[in-house]
Amino acid sequence: MDIEVLISDILQKLAEPSVRPISEIHVSDIANCLRRSYYSRKQPKKVDLVSAMRMKFGTTLHEYIQNELLKYGFSKEVRVVTDCKDFRIIATPDLIHEEKGIVVELKTTNSNLITPHENYVKQLKMYMRLLSDHITVTKGYIVVINRDSGYVRAFEVNEMFDFDYIYNRAKKLYECLINDTPPEPEYSNLCTWCPYRKECLEQLTCLTLDSFCNGD
Ligand code: SF4
Repeated sequence: MDIEVLISDILQKLAEPSVRPISEIHVSDIANCLRRSYYSRKQPKKVDLVSAMRMKFGTTLHEYIQNELLKYGFSKEVRVVTDCKDFRIIATPDLIHEEKGIVVELKTTNSNLITPHENYVKQLKMYMRLLSDHITVTKGYIVVINRDSGYVRAFEVNEMFDFDYIYNRAKKLYECLINDTPPEPEYSNLCTWCPYRKECLEQLTCLTLDSFCNGD
């Protein structure tokens, strides 16, 4: 047995993309750019190993925090499924405190954020609304943890989206997947790191790479 090869192979598995049925729409799919979510379903890509390992470190840290918070009345990874006619919307917030009506989403970064990213807020506002069909939700927190320094910052969120907004985004993504038609691009600073920039651009022949990346 070559232990070096064995462990290298195990690490490579971290980079494998996950494949899910079209009818399962996760909140993370619709809180982010729908076009990116479309490509990630139609043309799943391996992530690079460095990013995959960072994600694994983040997941392991989240699991540690989740398990510790169980002692304080929190539940972790509660899966909330909202069945619609042709698809289901799946919400899996990191932590909820049912008695206090609190929803928590953990995010690991390599910097000290002063404000949370817009897609983090969108994701939490969707979780809060979908959970409110089952418990009384009072507020949510995005908790950002700097994995290099241990800096922790909690951002309170007191609003949730209307269900129609969530449903319409899920329906749009589902229909695009069924019809093999990518949704319109949703420009943001996340385009810079999007693994589907090339595919996205190839279908936007009227835009130059520079204007596209700047979100003009
Ligand atoms: S490059 Fe930007 S607009 Fe295009 S799919 Fe990626 S995130 Fe969406």
